Amino acid sequence: MLVCHTINEIKSFIRQAASLGKTIGFVPTMGYFHAGHLALMSEAKKTCGVVVCSIFVNQLQFGPQEDFACYPRDIERDKRLAEEVGVDAIFIPSAEEMYPPRFSTFVETKKITDCLCGKSRPGHFRGVTTVVTKLFNIIQPNMAFFGQKDFQQAATIQRMVEDLNIEVKIVLVPTVRDKDGLALSSRNIYLKGAQRQAALNIPRSLALAAQAVENGERDPAKVKMAVCNKLTAEPLVEIDYVEIYSLPYLEEISLLQGEVLLAIAAKIGKTRLIDNLVLKVPDNGQSSPKR
Ligand code: AMP
Repeated sequence: MLVCHTINEIKSFIRQAASLGKTIGFVPTMGYFHAGHLALMSEAKKTCGVVVCSIFVNQLQFGPQEDFACYPRDIERDKRLAEEVGVDAIFIPSAEEMYPPRFSTFVETKKITDCLCGKSRPGHFRGVTTVVTKLFNIIQPNMAFFGQKDFQQAATIQRMVEDLNIEVKIVLVPTVRDKDGLALSSRNIYLKGAQRQAALNIPRSLALAAQAVENGERDPAKVKMAVCNKLTAEPLVEIDYVEIYSLPYLEEISLLQGEVLLAIAAKIGKTRLIDNLVLKVPDNGQSSPKR
């Protein structure tokens, strides 16, 4: 696996791969890999001739009170794991490489970022869309892979590539969970002792919501209330948001129908976790009977 630290190095690798007619798959990350990251790389490997992964802890997407300085990092381990799943090249730029002193251009997607994490973390998605635009311009991938765990992020990138006519296919990869149901996240390492047990109320409350919908509940307010009650039954959990939105544009709804997104953000101690579930709402048998 080729390891590149400069834009010129990775561009020359890409030029060579493209001249051989290879499909380029790209997996942008902030590193500290877990099975969720590796699932994106494996998915890319299945469909693309060349897989490029980036590791860049992007200061631009962290708020001033957030965990940029102590975000977990282990580049050597990441390189090993990426190589094991067959990544062809890994791009690990420095902050100066990505944001040289006179850097002053930003990319911002509106509307879809007004809710959920966009509301709770002002400026976060502007940082994400700016860095992803730069990475897309550098790597020029045919396909780019994003995790469902960060649903709003993937939806925002999808909006951005459509709006700006960026020629890349965005692929959404299902959330990878630990055996106990907790969505894998680099931040799970912050959870200590009882906090980890408390965090399990997040996937449990998603399951509770799915069950309520399965049982016929169609009022989003009632489902959200049940989720909040489940979450706060655990005193260590502090809710940031519990929301249900329509797909794919994340708009408010008053009735559950079709496919909708249930998204949760909660703090356990200082650790902010997010998770979500796409609820497939049965149509109550109102469709015309099969002949
Ligand atoms: P990050 O390093 O946290 O920026 O994540 C890099 C990519 O991995 C993003 O597209 C995330 O959505 C994705 N990802 C993170 N956690 C998971 C997970 N548990 N399952 C699937 N994808 C994930």
